[in-house]
Amino acid sequence: MTSVTRDDIATALRRMGLGEGDIVLLHSSVASLGRVDGGAEAVVEAFLDVLGPEGTLVVPTFGALGTITEVVRQRPDAVRSVHPKASVAAVGAAAEALCRDHWKADLAHGPDTPYQRLADMGGYVCLLGVDQDRNTTLHTVEEILRLPYLTTTAETTFETPEGTVTRSWPFFPGPHRDFIGLERRLEQAGKVRLSRLGRAAIRLMKALDLIEFCTAIGRADPAFVLCDNPACTDCVRQRAALRRDRLAQEPFRVAAAASLAGRYVEEIAEACQNTGIDRVELDALRGLPLARLKTSAIVAAVAALRDQGVGVCALRLSAAGEAFTAALTAAAEAGVGRLVMPLTDRAGAYAAAAAERGVRIAFANRALMRDVVSDIMLGLRSRGIEAGLAFSPADFAAAGENPFLASYRHRLRRFIDQVDLEDGRFDGTPATLMQGNAEIKELVSILRCCSFDGLMVLGPRNRCGGGLLDAAKALDRLLESL
Ligand SMILES: [Zn+2]
Repeated sequence: MTSVTRDDIATALRRMGLGEGDIVLLHSSVASLGRVDGGAEAVVEAFLDVLGPEGTLVVPTFGALGTITEVVRQRPDAVRSVHPKASVAAVGAAAEALCRDHWKADLAHGPDTPYQRLADMGGYVCLLGVDQDRNTTLHTVEEILRLPYLTTTAETTFETPEGTVTRSWPFFPGPHRDFIGLERRLEQAGKVRLSRLGRAAIRLMKALDLIEFCTAIGRADPAFVLCDNPACTDCVRQRAALRRDRLAQEPFRVAAAASLAGRYVEEIAEACQNTGIDRVELDALRGLPLARLKTSAIVAAVAALRDQGVGVCALRLSAAGEAFTAALTAAAEAGVGRLVMPLTDRAGAYAAAAAERGVRIAFANRALMRDVVSDIMLGLRSRGIEAGLAFSPADFAAAGENPFLASYRHRLRRFIDQVDLEDGRFDGTPATLMQGNAEIKELVSILRCCSFDGLMVLGPRNRCGGGLLDAAKALDRLLESL
């Protein structure tokens, strides 16, 4: 096979539109060119031939360094930007201006860093024999968008021309990214000039174009550089961070039934971390309903979940009766201020007993029609008994009522402090959210409109559509459809 020369490289770069005075941030793999006369030095010289004395060649100098990077970095006229996480080396007229005070910028790859400065000065990003995976300027986009899954680095101590500095960087890019997935969109939008040299593909992009185009994509879809491989723990967790951030902007708080998340504490906690839903309503453990668990087991589970970052917003009984006293004791001892149980005509006695222990009760409507529910709740109120309504649209549908058009509108709104986010058909069959007769979309929409600040609980009937993550995705679709 014939080898590539310095002149071949210069000719190819000029043909792609590079010329005197241009600024280029180069990501490269010299090995992918095949044989090069003069090796990495010849590649660097070819770039400098094209850019001329007025131009500037920039290479990233963090992470695994290629031979081209080494050649640039070791040149006597190279300028290094001072940064322990994101430094570059530059050769040429704009080197000083690009590299100055890099460590002082708020973000590692954002404004006042070589990456954004290069873009503002009309510079290019060149990928020589490497793909978008290596395109550091895409981190600029993530940081500008301050995407919620980005993290703050540990504090680092390093030397600067102004003395020793210790600091950390917020919104710093983390583990796995799917930058490769952006290539097709960039090409389709005409943002990439493509060429080949030897065996290597060369991609050339205007850095500012790249930043602006990808920022627009990221604004519409904050998960734009995350992969959707369910086995990629990094991206599962990063997507969870996006959902956590989105849900925090709702007036209501979202929780999951523990039994939808898993059977064991560890399993429940992991499902919560993978979905970004950090609170559960504890209704069952190890496949057993709360009524069959010892008080001490419930208290221990609440503590263990808290240790793993999962709050327990309520205990839930599936039936009233004997188990009530034990559940109330567990709620009081575990510091869970809330107990959910079915509404019965003995509601007043339960609510009064709970109030004595500092626990608030919410009653679930189960098989009752709206008039019965409204009568009992009004009765409690007239006797000065505090209690909430855990409004279950799927149960109203199963009882033969239109949950929104009839039940909700029938003066029940004022009692509701929880909505069980479960859909179901009139015949009682569970359904995925928005696939049944429970008028879930109408309910969530109206509650959002009146800044409902209670709980929305993804209940166990969502298991018909999969696990907690599937239910959370259905909730995403619901919220996006409003
Ligand atoms: Zn991934």
